[in-house]
Amino acid sequence: MFNKLTVTVLTLFSWSFMSKTFAQRHKTENVIMVAMDGMRWQEIFGGVDSSIMHDKTFTKERRDMEKAFWVASTEERRKKLMPFFWNTIAKDGQLYGNRTLGNYVDVANPYKFTYPGFSETVTGNPDSAVNSNGLVKNKNINVLEVINQQKEYNGKVATFATSVLFPYVLNKWRNGLYVNADKDSLAFDSPQMQMLNKMEQLAAKPTGERPDLLTYFAAREYLISHKPRVLYVPMGETDAFAHQGLYDQYIGAVHAEDAMIADLWSLIQSMPQYKNKTTLIVTCDHGRGGKIKEQWTDHGVKIEDSGNIWMAVIGPDSSPLGEVTSQSQIYQGQIAATIAALLGVHYAPPQKVLPSIDSVLK
Ligand SMILES: [Zn+2]
Repeated sequence: MFNKLTVTVLTLFSWSFMSKTFAQRHKTENVIMVAMDGMRWQEIFGGVDSSIMHDKTFTKERRDMEKAFWVASTEERRKKLMPFFWNTIAKDGQLYGNRTLGNYVDVANPYKFTYPGFSETVTGNPDSAVNSNGLVKNKNINVLEVINQQKEYNGKVATFATSVLFPYVLNKWRNGLYVNADKDSLAFDSPQMQMLNKMEQLAAKPTGERPDLLTYFAAREYLISHKPRVLYVPMGETDAFAHQGLYDQYIGAVHAEDAMIADLWSLIQSMPQYKNKTTLIVTCDHGRGGKIKEQWTDHGVKIEDSGNIWMAVIGPDSSPLGEVTSQSQIYQGQIAATIAALLGVHYAPPQKVLPSIDSVLK
């Protein structure tokens, strides 16, 4: 009798201790991930690059850019370009990838372009067989579909993407994930969604794809009306304008996307389901050249430093490290396992998966 009672008490005690530990470690109930395609770490940590700004090949309207974004101090300059990153994430969250401090973020796949980069991010596997930007259904399992298979998350995982690649990267045919991309219209009946469909039909498309602003607003309206637990919003203009060699347009897209992310963060902090229970991750898929100035427009195997990237995180489980100054190395392939860990979901697909990022989880 005594032994049985002792065991019960001990069991109850350890159970309550374990649940408490678990609850303390995982305050995150929702994850939002935004991506800025091909956004360079150089501008994240250094603001506008003066050598590219002063080169007429790349910057037609130098004076406007100088007026809006130039100041001699690096700390002030990066803040002018990305005020949300430097006033909010750098204070309450974590910013990884300032290589001048020895803090490294890299792609682990050998290709340094879009599809392999996003595939690595969502599957956790830098699979060398994923080697093209073709419309090919991804064979690797991704963390979004595994989360969507859990009872409490089912139907609560959604993606709004600028690029037509995403239904393929996420293989929505295999797993039934909701993925709205590029020209897909929004099959929701509200006046807001109908207006977004109309705007998408009528908008100019200087990059050939849906403008990021409309991708963002589709995601925003969906968040308000459907309250997803996991929302993924990969945007594309930074990469597209850089390929066109238009530094002023690229910089304009960076500044606008920082403002959209700020708007999203303030929106979720105003909604009880999300406030203080949501981790926001901002990432990219690859970098671009930087060591040779002219290579800023491009990326890929021939541009070695285009595998150098960055990552930003803000949320209730991540301590406010700000700009991370420690010497460390992380890979974008670690993001999948990190998202699973934040939500307490077991992620062990058949393929190889890189481990979660410890410093995001404490
Ligand atoms: Zn590209």
